[in-house]
Amino acid sequence: MRPTTAPRTPLDERPVTSLRGVGPALGETLARIGVRTVQDLLFHLPLRYEDRTRVVPIGSLRPGDRAVIEGEVQLAEVVFRRRRALLCRLADGSGLITLRFFHFSAAQQAALTRGTRLRCFGEVRPGPGGPEIVHPEYRRVAEGTASPVDECLTPIYPTTEGVQQGRMRALTGLALAELHDGSLKDWIPPDVLVSSRMPALEAALRYVHRPPPNADIELLNAGRHPAQRRLAFEELLAHQISLRLLRQAADRDDAWPLTARTDLVGRCLAGLPFQLTGAQQRAWREIESDLEREHPMMRLVQGDVGSGKTVVAALAALRAVEHGAQAAVMAPTELLAEQHARNFLGWLDPLGVRVGLLTGRLTGKARNALNEDLAGGAVQVSVGTHALFQEGVQFARLALVIVDEQHRFGVHQRMQLREKGRTDGRYPHQLVMTATPIPRTLAMTAYADLDVSVIDELPPGRTPVRTVVLPDNRRDEVVSRIDAACRAGRQAYWVCPLIEESESLRHQAAEETAASLAAALPDVRVGLVHGRMPGARKDAVMNSFKQGQVDLLVATTVIEVGVDVPNASLMVIENAERMGLSQLHQLRGRVGRGSVESSCVLLYQSPLSPLARERLAVLRDTNDGFEVSRRDLELRGPGELLGTRQTGLMQLKVADLVRDSDLLPDVQKAAALMLEAGGANIASLLRRWVGDGERFGKV
Ligand code: ADP
Ligand code: MG
Repeated sequence: MRPTTAPRTPLDERPVTSLRGVGPALGETLARIGVRTVQDLLFHLPLRYEDRTRVVPIGSLRPGDRAVIEGEVQLAEVVFRRRRALLCRLADGSGLITLRFFHFSAAQQAALTRGTRLRCFGEVRPGPGGPEIVHPEYRRVAEGTASPVDECLTPIYPTTEGVQQGRMRALTGLALAELHDGSLKDWIPPDVLVSSRMPALEAALRYVHRPPPNADIELLNAGRHPAQRRLAFEELLAHQISLRLLRQAADRDDAWPLTARTDLVGRCLAGLPFQLTGAQQRAWREIESDLEREHPMMRLVQGDVGSGKTVVAALAALRAVEHGAQAAVMAPTELLAEQHARNFLGWLDPLGVRVGLLTGRLTGKARNALNEDLAGGAVQVSVGTHALFQEGVQFARLALVIVDEQHRFGVHQRMQLREKGRTDGRYPHQLVMTATPIPRTLAMTAYADLDVSVIDELPPGRTPVRTVVLPDNRRDEVVSRIDAACRAGRQAYWVCPLIEESESLRHQAAEETAASLAAALPDVRVGLVHGRMPGARKDAVMNSFKQGQVDLLVATTVIEVGVDVPNASLMVIENAERMGLSQLHQLRGRVGRGSVESSCVLLYQSPLSPLARERLAVLRDTNDGFEVSRRDLELRGPGELLGTRQTGLMQLKVADLVRDSDLLPDVQKAAALMLEAGGANIASLLRRWVGDGERFGKV
């Protein structure tokens, strides 16, 4: 008998453009967020959920609820308090609520006449005149028409420009329609599945994309539903395997053994204006003994902001130089690369070691000259951005690659570096530095391919940053404090809230904050940086700040990573209650770099939940990054949105290393089983979760 339908192409090979209504343009947009196949779409998982399956009486709302309400406009008026706003009062017989708009058009205002019926969705918060919703989604509805609410909980997806939530939901709907028995392989070894009683893959996917109205939304938003845990397990497994494969490959590779050969390192140490701390010495000894081996070092140095990782990296670079080989230092931004280059020059130039700086900005003749010196080996230590590893850059003999701020690069780029440095069948040693300190058990999972050194001591003589926690209604005091600091010749940062969901609203908010601070502080030169600005402009503003031409730098969290402006001694962080503790700690590390007493003001929006209060108190009470992350892990309650996922340990879609840590032992076992068995399953699993699985497939 012949089959009645042609065998279908498996979903991991079907391009998204094979779906109805998905043309090449949309295909390209989706590819930007890594969605190329129908399988990719199915594994594009919601970030959280909203309940729009029913209309909730206004009178029953509590602060923090995200709900659909329906009611009649009583009054709509524009008020001028601190900020111009359109306020609209809505009533449904059970209660009254205020809708607050900071951005609105005249037409929008005109349409909100008394008696208009609206259906709204948004988050309820306490306002000056009772409960309110800021910028609700809303539409007009006719009286009496029971216009439908949603049939399942609403998944909120990560999106990209050009693909809105609604579109994303429609797309996952199309993909789900293609999902049928056996169209996706379950790569988890069957005995593992049985022993942990996890739901089947297809059922889990259907559930997470379209949870039924009776689903436990709190459980889902906490990421603890069995369907999510099923997927998290697979994701953690894929990452674990990919990291172990990397490590296995490295352990088979050859490297130049870099034993001590001359007294370069000793001379460098003797020339430093300080002595290494005990923790720096320990890290250096660990690195030193790795470098002597015939296989590439794969080591991570973890150390709090300001713990002095750079100088340790410089010593390692000198070991390469002692052997007539080269070292390359890669930083995530041009600004940081320049900063490192200055440090390295200061330490190495007196020793007669040539240091080169290569960023995207270096062009023309200068670039060609540097390329020649790299290829010929005249430049022994090069510092740069990823430009260092682009085509056209050749090294004579690259024996050591140093990567600063690991999470901005990720495993893939490190693999690229490894290939780039290959000479005569030997691979460079790798040293990775990160300022995100995490406890050892977690590190072993997140960095399964790396050995870890810890610098858990700050150099002596630092004045600790004084941290205060203040409600947003004391903002004016804070602004006058900035005024005083800047008049006294000091500089300050103002970090803008992360509350807006879209990148464009976020940068708009930053712009408004900068404008209102500039208006309130006429004698202060205010600069602005945010993620949407072109790199060159961003760096220009940062540079003026560095050079003291800007007094107050308003920024989104782009300043998080290692910029050193010793004269900046005050930092204000808005909506601190919404941010992860580790992230706040990193931000705070931008001040307290000079000798003057520095302070950090954490502004929060009242009222503060007891948990949020306790979390912010951690920052007030300690300046120790390890302590901060330890307490952070302890305190993270369910439903916490910002956590490890945002600190960039790993790019995880559904798993969370902390929340799902109980899965880790089984993940480790399953990883061992699969690696032992080998075969094509591994490549397929990695392609599903890690992307570009083929690269790891060479087992
Ligand atoms: P991070 O670990 O955040 O990268 P850096 O390497 O930038 O820290 O070091 C911060 C500052 O401390 C630099 O100015 C550096 O020269 C200085 N420093 C490093 N080690 C010591 C030390 N042992 N004693 C005093 N100052 C040090
Ligand atoms: Mg650093």
